Amino acid sequence: MEKTALSIRLYGDPVLRKKAKPVSHISDRHRQILSDMAKTMYAGSGIGLAAPQIGTSESMIVADIGSGLYKLINPKIMKREGWQVLDEGCLSIPGVCIKVKRARKITLTAQDEFSHPLTLEADDLLACVLQHEMEHLKGKLIVDYASIFERLKIKQKLAKLAQKIKDEKLPESKKESCQLQL
Ligand code: ZN
Repeated sequence: MEKTALSIRLYGDPVLRKKAKPVSHISDRHRQILSDMAKTMYAGSGIGLAAPQIGTSESMIVADIGSGLYKLINPKIMKREGWQVLDEGCLSIPGVCIKVKRARKITLTAQDEFSHPLTLEADDLLACVLQHEMEHLKGKLIVDYASIFERLKIKQKLAKLAQKIKDEKLPESKKESCQLQL
């Protein structure tokens, strides 16, 4: 478990648009991936990360908004209540910040890393983070929420980012335009 953070897949990488496969048998390999995901999230100053963001198309997410680390396998939303709108960034789309309307409170079911089923109620920021990460598992990204006006604004940024990925250059600036990095 000495491994350092993995590199985060960036916008334009096809794995981010793939639907993640459910995990049928939870093994040491999955526990290792979850541990690597947590390290990668912390290294990127993120508060959530989904497996596709490190190139693994399997249904796993991690989140920590400062109140403890969640490692969730096969998460599924059972109930949504209310609404909230937050400015969201994404570790896979550096420099982009988009207002996203999501449920204010959710109830989800999942399995922990030892296959135990669990039910989790989350509200406010944690609910936002978990919904963001679970959408990564469906191949959905925050840019899909952008209005036509916002799309025009971010189009150039995204093109630049795609070019940098093609050239295998990292984004020149780690400075993010958004507080929430998910
Ligand atoms: Zn994200």
